[in-house]
Amino acid sequence: MANSKNLKDIKEDILNCNKCTLRKFRDENKYFPVIGQGNHNANILFIGEAPGQNEAKTGFPFCGASGRILDELLNSVGIKREDVYVTNILKDRPPNNRDPEPKEIEVCIPYLRKQIEAIKPKVICTLGRYSMVVIMEQLGLADKLDAISKIHGKEFEKDGIVILPLYHPAVAVYNGNMKETLKLDFQTLKKYTK
Ligand code: URA
Repeated sequence: MANSKNLKDIKEDILNCNKCTLRKFRDENKYFPVIGQGNHNANILFIGEAPGQNEAKTGFPFCGASGRILDELLNSVGIKREDVYVTNILKDRPPNNRDPEPKEIEVCIPYLRKQIEAIKPKVICTLGRYSMVVIMEQLGLADKLDAISKIHGKEFEKDGIVILPLYHPAVAVYNGNMKETLKLDFQTLKKYTK
């Protein structure tokens, strides 16, 4: 399929990318870039911040504690992980999980844009404040930005794609109230499965 070919080309470009210092960190630690995982024709695209250590060691997004919460949230609305696509703003792990730097975002955003173009999701779910800010700014929704506590679970439309800001699953690892809030917001996703 055409978009699988596009996603394969994007994967090659990321594997060969040498445009920022995260590549050196990847090689020094024998890490993998975390390109993305899931259905190439997904209606629902999740975008986190950056790979953590578990992810960089395996090459798969959200495969640690946050990933288990993500799976639980998906299960709560009857959606399977293999039916959605999951990726991050940054494809390589930043040292000590520090915040991404502007140069790193600048380098990685074109890959994410190409992934969005290839997959053509109906809805993009940003996971966490950081991803929300970057995606809404990049997609021309900066004027709609507000605190995540105010706009989580609200749908914003831009050029035929819906952006749904969600809290990062990590906030629910030790906080049951946040998990309930996330579960309520995930209800919105049911209508995008068909
Ligand atoms: N947190 C993220 O934002 N992304 C991952 O892939 C894992 C944890």
